[in-house]
Amino acid sequence: MPKIKLIQYREKCIGCNVCYEASPSNWKINEEDGKADLIGSKETKKDVFVKDISLDEVEENKIAEDNCPVGIIHVEDG
Ligand code: SF4
Repeated sequence: MPKIKLIQYREKCIGCNVCYEASPSNWKINEEDGKADLIGSKETKKDVFVKDISLDEVEENKIAEDNCPVGIIHVEDG
C-alpha cells in the first residue's frame, strides 16, 4: 500500500474552516487559538504537522489543499 502524507504548516492558518468542511474526520478548529488542528498528527518540526492517510481520504484532502486560502495543506506521496 502506498503511503500518503497529509501535512499542515500550521503557523499561517487563519481558521477559515475550509479543511474541516472538506474532510471533517481529519480537521477540527482548535477553540483556544482558532486555528485548524490536523487530527491524529505529529508535530515533526515547529508548527509542521504530519499524518498518514488512506487512499480513500486523498480526494477530500486534495480539495482542502486546493482551497486552503493560505496554501498550508499538502497531500504528498510519502
Ligand atoms: S483551510 Fe487552511 S487556513 Fe483554513 S482552517 Fe484549514 S488549514 Fe487553516
